Amino acid sequence: MKKLCLLAALCAALFISGRVSGADAGFPIYFENAKLVVKPEIVNRSTYLPLIEIVQFLKLPYTDALALETFTVRSGASRLVLTRNSGLISINDQIVLLRNPILRENDRWLVPIDFLTQGLSRITGTEFRYRSGRIFAGNVQAPELAMNAQSLGSITRLTLRVGAATRVSVNHDDPKRAVIQIDKSPLDPLRETVDHKDRLVRSVAYDDSDGTSRIVVETTEDVADVRVTPAEGNEIFFVDFLRKGTPVTTEPPAPEPAPAPAAPDRPAALPNASKLRVVVLDPGHGGLDSGTRSPGLSEKDLTLAIARRLRGALQSRLGVTVLLTRDADVAMDSEARSAVANNNQANLFISIHIGYSANKLDSGSSVFVMKEDFGGPVTPTSGHLFLPWYLGYRTSHQSSIQFAKILQDELTKAIPGWKFPVRNAPLGVLSSATMPGIALEIGNLNNNVNAQTLVDAGFQNRLVNTIVNAVQQLTP
Ligand SMILES: [Zn+2]
Repeated sequence: MKKLCLLAALCAALFISGRVSGADAGFPIYFENAKLVVKPEIVNRSTYLPLIEIVQFLKLPYTDALALETFTVRSGASRLVLTRNSGLISINDQIVLLRNPILRENDRWLVPIDFLTQGLSRITGTEFRYRSGRIFAGNVQAPELAMNAQSLGSITRLTLRVGAATRVSVNHDDPKRAVIQIDKSPLDPLRETVDHKDRLVRSVAYDDSDGTSRIVVETTEDVADVRVTPAEGNEIFFVDFLRKGTPVTTEPPAPEPAPAPAAPDRPAALPNASKLRVVVLDPGHGGLDSGTRSPGLSEKDLTLAIARRLRGALQSRLGVTVLLTRDADVAMDSEARSAVANNNQANLFISIHIGYSANKLDSGSSVFVMKEDFGGPVTPTSGHLFLPWYLGYRTSHQSSIQFAKILQDELTKAIPGWKFPVRNAPLGVLSSATMPGIALEIGNLNNNVNAQTLVDAGFQNRLVNTIVNAVQQLTP
């Protein structure tokens, strides 16, 4: 006798809802092209699932023999019989022992998880694999999800690595909670929670109890904004929680882009200008940190002057948005500088410095890219690379090298007599930037001729126009 009463199941759920952990927590079972979300019951600290909903979903014929207190389910020629309050189930007349007994309460058959993995798997030929909080059935594909969190000064960064390209969005309507929705389901999280707590983040937990993938972050009310930066082909996401009062450098949109001056050896307009939208310039040093000095001159003032001039040239010639990490004489640490670039989804990051050599005749300059092996080898775990925040540069290392070489070529042509070798260095300011980035260290402040050249407006204009020429070549 079949019993197909959805109402009865609903009523039963209400009667024993006192045992449900979490008000509306569901338990998803993922199939290759479908999913079933059931309401679990926790009995004696074990998770139980409602049997009839599962066999109905699988369209398996069954017999609910109330008088005998048995339940029989069939699949093809196979037959499985279970008995109330017994952990012994019969599969084609063979006995299998489950770790927990079958229950029947308030007209509802409740089965432990291993009824699916040990019982249903055998009669249906569909393998049910249990992961904490969810079951994967058959050939369902579940990319891995790795989560990691770090405090970075006024920012808390949650790094997500998904084993497949996807999209991520954030809802932060509730001041004490951010919900990060991942547009891929199911996922197989390496851990359900992230063990991290700081001034901004209270807890981080993966939640797919309704069959969609999301991460719930309980925050303090100090969080002003949450921003997502995708990297590495949308498989890595940096989710940054920004503290209230964090200075975020914003610039009004660039004025009408002036027509690019006709350059004889290259197209007048960017062929694909839409790819390069935001450039972040980082004037080195600032505040108490003057950088290198010579009488009447300090690096921090020169780098700011050059960055402001470069901002104007980039905006007017390329029509891109240009942000400065600092637009005043203030101190900033390296992480805050690259965070400005990451948080504003910059496409290019240029840190500007002035060199200093003990040799007064030296006029060496350098274009720095991150040292390739900085941070050591990243060990693959479960076939996936996990990228700590400080290795953000690796997501675009090749593009950084490419840009460094272009810049080297342009500077060598434009400033004869000066050399611009491309060097590798473990620079903190570049290590966590997730876009192509270089540091340009120009001239020698200890060389009097160099110092006079560097403060000259004509030279600064030539320098910034040369950098714009190089940036212009970045877009294909
Ligand atoms: Zn410097």
